[in-house]
Amino acid sequence: MRYRTRLERARGRMRDLGVDALCVSVGPDLPYLTGYTALPLERLTMLVVTLESDAVLVVPELEAPRVLERPDVFAMRPWSETEDPVRLVADRLRGADTVAVGDQTWARFVLALEATLPEARFVPANRVTAPLRVIKDAAEIGALQRAAEAVDDIVESMRERPFCGRSERDVAHEVVERMLDRGHERANFAIVASGPNGASPHHEPANRVMGPGDVVVCDFGGTMDGYCSDITRMYAVGTPAAEVRDDYEILTAAQEAAVQAATVGTPCAEVDAVARRVLAESGLDEYFVHRTGHGIGMEAHEDPYLVAGNAGPLEAGHVFSVEPGVYLPGRFGLRVEDIVVATEDGPRRLNAAPRDLAIVG
Ligand code: ZN
Ligand code: ZN
Ligand code: ZN
Repeated sequence: MRYRTRLERARGRMRDLGVDALCVSVGPDLPYLTGYTALPLERLTMLVVTLESDAVLVVPELEAPRVLERPDVFAMRPWSETEDPVRLVADRLRGADTVAVGDQTWARFVLALEATLPEARFVPANRVTAPLRVIKDAAEIGALQRAAEAVDDIVESMRERPFCGRSERDVAHEVVERMLDRGHERANFAIVASGPNGASPHHEPANRVMGPGDVVVCDFGGTMDGYCSDITRMYAVGTPAAEVRDDYEILTAAQEAAVQAATVGTPCAEVDAVARRVLAESGLDEYFVHRTGHGIGMEAHEDPYLVAGNAGPLEAGHVFSVEPGVYLPGRFGLRVEDIVVATEDGPRRLNAAPRDLAIVG
């Protein structure tokens, strides 16, 4: 029922937008619409959705056994090694003027489709799917909540662990293992950025060995039952400098203010501005070099983006990170991040782990 409803809503949007066919391949749109995740292979998997006929999943014959068939949602068209899958898709698109193609479809297939259908106009599928996926239903919020609880447990357990004398890479490896042990099917990333490395927001964990006085940004997330987790917490090896503690207090105040501002109807840009205004009171805003947050769901980063210029209002069911940071080049970095859902009763954090600067050995 879930997938049929989603497909019908997708067709509704296609009608509104004047899209005649929707073609989705690798990436989250396909599992969102069918429950099936295509492997990112050189062989084409593509769901073709048209307004009038049934949706068809063109799939490599050898991948077909992985598909949980849902005949009430889509038909299957397995292709053998000697068939041309682009031709099979194109045959179903005859007469379509506007074709929406999934954002993560390999360029070689898009180019081949364009060459095969020179009359058609190709547009991004996210125009059809993003507005559907951005509103999470109760089951999706439940999945995001469980993923959040898993990483909450990990940030708490890391408070008991030594950091001193260990490399960033070693701690990152432990975090990845804990994510898998705690039920994630995949770890998507684990940033452990200590001392001056923390000033680079997406630092790749390296061989730097941590020692007394270091503050450490730990930002990690993975996928659990198809939905993503993403959390950032701060650790200090021994007693942190007074400046670190003061700046972190301001940062957590900025994050709290931004979370509280994330009410239904508030423009996304305003949530970003709230965090920036709190930091500006202490002159820290110039060290906050990225947007305040990103949507999260089947993808770690998706709509809505909490960024200057995004006037779109938050809606009930939007789920997003709130993660202001302060980055002092050559010195240290600070960030704190929670996943938040906008509800009619106000913003609700999915992460509940303590947000204080954890002192570790
Ligand atoms: Zn990030
Ligand atoms: Zn993060
Ligand atoms: Zn994030």
